[in-house]
Amino acid sequence: MERVRLAAMARRFVIVGGGVGAAAAAQALRERGFDGAIVVIGEEPEVPYERPPLSKEYLRGEQGREALPVHDEAWYQDHHVDLRLGVRATELDPGGPAVTLEDGERLDADAVLLATGGRPRRMPGPPSDRVLYLRRVADADRIRQVIRSGRLVVVGAGFIGAEVAASARVGGAEVTVLEKNHVPLGRAIGEEMGRIYAGIHRDRGVDLRTEDGVAAVEETPGGVVVRTERGDAIEAGAVLVGIGIEPNVELASAAGLEVANGVAVDERCETSAPGVFACGDVADHQHPTFGRRIRVEHFDNALKMGTYVGGAMLGDPAPFTDPHWFWSDQYEVNLQYAGFAYAWDQVVVRGSMEDLDGVAFYLHEGVLLGALGLNRGRDVRRAMKLIGSRPDPSALADDGTDLRTLAVG
Ligand SMILES: Cc1cc2nc3c(=O)[nH]c(=O)nc-3n(C[C@H](O)[C@H](O)[C@H](O)COP(=O)(O)OP(=O)(O)OC[C@H]3O[C@@H](n4cnc5c(N)ncnc54)[C@H](O)[C@@H]3O)c2cc1C
Repeated sequence: MERVRLAAMARRFVIVGGGVGAAAAAQALRERGFDGAIVVIGEEPEVPYERPPLSKEYLRGEQGREALPVHDEAWYQDHHVDLRLGVRATELDPGGPAVTLEDGERLDADAVLLATGGRPRRMPGPPSDRVLYLRRVADADRIRQVIRSGRLVVVGAGFIGAEVAASARVGGAEVTVLEKNHVPLGRAIGEEMGRIYAGIHRDRGVDLRTEDGVAAVEETPGGVVVRTERGDAIEAGAVLVGIGIEPNVELASAAGLEVANGVAVDERCETSAPGVFACGDVADHQHPTFGRRIRVEHFDNALKMGTYVGGAMLGDPAPFTDPHWFWSDQYEVNLQYAGFAYAWDQVVVRGSMEDLDGVAFYLHEGVLLGALGLNRGRDVRRAMKLIGSRPDPSALADDGTDLRTLAVG
């Protein structure tokens, strides 16, 4: 009760981070009637924008920059959101709380939100203009040029690497992918589904080399030679490295907040410092449905958690319970995934995964933890409501059963 009363009197909220999580939180605060000051600190020069097209439509030149922003600049003015772009927050004082910017300005706040996202994990070795990473729109612009030049080596077949490989192939480039694992996307979707993706890429002309990695990258006048751990030498215009992200936890850890696999937050997205919240890719959230801390790197989560956390900052006591959902587009294959299958002892399939028209349901001790669909978005969205329940496996497998009719419990 005390928290609710204090939150209602809050005068200034400071949001650190200029991504979709930050934009969604600012929007939610205004929609819930917060009429105090909102300051958004974003180190990138662009208004908060959506990153998913950077490996897809934008990379292929099918979508322009104007389609990327979450809101246009006028929205922030119209909603009296003080958007500070191109400036970094360098310190968090959890006691205030307060945030200090790189120019020394200190912003005292009634609540702070950390929506700082993540940055690409770097490959060992000296930095090079020809070794590229993809997180920001400027990165995508550079990769677009390389794709036009004709040959690309992709290091890491996670979602970013696999999507860039697909977009580059569609654009006509020669693509070699190096992946340490046996299959692409293995960490996210498991070995069996990863094998299907290996086939999808190879069938479309990607030179996919699994169980191989980079030993060295040598620059040449026209590009690079990538020497692999197995001893091959591959010539290319450049290398795109997609080996995961590191959550931007530095402000939180320097301030003494609990940091685990990201900034640790409770069910309401509040950190170990009262009045300091975190959302999106950086937040390691105590998820009530899964009964464990989960940090995901999904657009939909950043959007929904950002929207949710606006309410939590205002004192709403309800926990964040979204079961999670993400998608990936590679060639004509649309993957959608609901839930978070941290373990499973039963996989039930409806339709056919091999024919790229099916859903795999992951159950653990009878509880549905995840559903992965290939070109089955409708089924996956319906399955979201079943995550955490004990649906009848034979009904899951039966294409004639509408998933909405399956009882939750
Ligand atoms: C190329 C690409 C494709 C993707 N495709 C998909 C997809 O198909 N499906 C899907 O579900 N997800 C996808 N994602 C993931 C999705 O974009 C992220 O989950 C989402 O962007 C996370 O939003 P966020 O607001 O938490 O963090 P971010 O988008 O990372 O934004 C954080 C912002 O905060 C800024 N910042 C950090 N520290 C500071 C500081 N100290 N001071 C000021 N500013 C700071 C950062 O520079 C950044 O601008 C993709 C991501 C990328 C990069």
